Amino acid sequence: MRTRQIILLCIALAALTVAGLLTVSNARRTGAETEDYPDGIPWLCTNPDCGAEIVVTLDEMSDFFLENPDRNSLRCPKCGQYDTARAARCPDCKRLYPRQLARQAGRSVCPSCRNSNAPSPEGSQ
Ligand SMILES: [Zn+2]
Ligand SMILES: [Zn+2]
Repeated sequence: MRTRQIILLCIALAALTVAGLLTVSNARRTGAETEDYPDGIPWLCTNPDCGAEIVVTLDEMSDFFLENPDRNSLRCPKCGQYDTARAARCPDCKRLYPRQLARQAGRSVCPSCRNSNAPSPEGSQ
């Protein structure tokens, strides 16, 4: 009787583990998009007189483009223009820069400090 109970307990535990793993993998799948952007999606106003940093959530961004299908850039809340571009945050100076601009320059480096992608000397082991 004892052994049988232990076996049943083991089966129950195994089932719980599988259920737990499934829950985790499901949550991970649905949360994948937001996981990539835990701090929101950065945009930058490219209007030289403005330069506002705009950070939106994935939901806000998809809502905007659903409501404005003819637009391919967000509306700047500061100057009201649509001169905005997807931006990336420089890990060094923490400033936003337009990803397009960096791509046009041939390498994705921050225009502010220009060394975001440079291999760090300390990092080579
Ligand atoms: Zn603006
Ligand atoms: Zn930088």
